Amino acid sequence: MKLGILGGGQLGMMMCQEAKDLEISTFIFTDAEDSPATKFSDEHIIAQYDDFEKLERFIRACNVVTYEFENIPYKTLNHILKKKPVYPDPQINNIIQDRLTEKKFINDLNIPTVPYLPIEESNQLQFVEENFFPAILKTRRLGYDGKGQTVIDSKSEKFQIEKNDYILEKRIELKTEISVITVRYQDNSLFSYKPIENIHKDQILYTSTSPASISLELQTKAIRWSQDIIEALNYVGVICIEFFIDRFDNLYVNEIAPRVHNSGHLTIESYNVSQFQSHLRAVCDLNPIAPELKTKAQMLNLLGDDIFKYRDQSNIEKDAFFHDYYKKEAKKGRKMGHITKIIS
Ligand code: ADP
Ligand code: MG
Repeated sequence: MKLGILGGGQLGMMMCQEAKDLEISTFIFTDAEDSPATKFSDEHIIAQYDDFEKLERFIRACNVVTYEFENIPYKTLNHILKKKPVYPDPQINNIIQDRLTEKKFINDLNIPTVPYLPIEESNQLQFVEENFFPAILKTRRLGYDGKGQTVIDSKSEKFQIEKNDYILEKRIELKTEISVITVRYQDNSLFSYKPIENIHKDQILYTSTSPASISLELQTKAIRWSQDIIEALNYVGVICIEFFIDRFDNLYVNEIAPRVHNSGHLTIESYNVSQFQSHLRAVCDLNPIAPELKTKAQMLNLLGDDIFKYRDQSNIEKDAFFHDYYKKEAKKGRKMGHITKIIS
């Protein structure tokens, strides 16, 4: 079995690490030179995602193809799909790559999101009611780790926006944020990991704790909505749904990540089967395994310079597991590695 993975980041890296135990060989196709995944894959190509000549060799070599980030051009995924199975179905990215169609899709399933308005030009903001503010203006496409977001506290505020497609989202007072990872297999069986509690710093994930300390009612609802979403998409593989919980315990879906997710890294140490293994098993059509929590755990992201404190291993506590993504340049806010600590 040879699995092709588009994207060469740390998510792809951890898939490749897990694939070794399952005796699946991996082939990474990435557009970046400094790619963590290529250090653990059996084979790789570095080329642009629309380089169809280079893609041809990749397609020929692989039995099945998946991707580790959702912004792979749709045209590329669709081209591959004509020749080899691609999981999850590229069609899903059409919905999820655009925050507006994503939210409409969620609301059509009778699942709430925070209130939002589509915005195409800055002068439209004048017609938004004052009580909609504070709000966050988000680019509809290509945002991640808070990129492409501007907080607007009041309508009278002066700001400039470039011509782009945006949504304006009401900013809510968050009590907490959670995520739910769900896997769905080709035989339609599906399993959810317990909700994970997430703390963001400057809109970038900082810590994740499993299980989340939320009511049973909220846990059940978040899992039910996640499963409604994955079934509506007829999805194969791992998906992650991010949720907001406000101070009145209202639950909203924030966004859908059609892939393994940063908040799920702690499943490597705290579950019988990690999110990476679940994803590989589903896309490669191996026997389903139900995830079971072995121990509580907390993950800490190492951003930018944080990594240097741990690279010599001397600062790692007992019961803590250090993961280095081996990226050369420690830019500010860049995800460089993580530590998962077992909580007894
Ligand atoms: P990204 O695609 O960059 O992850 P998100 O929409 O998930 O974008 O926003 C990143 C973080 O910013 C969220 O996890 C949350 O902490 C904060 N945030 C985003 N939207 C809102 C909102 N409407 N109200 C309050 N906080 C928000
Ligand atoms: Mg997010």
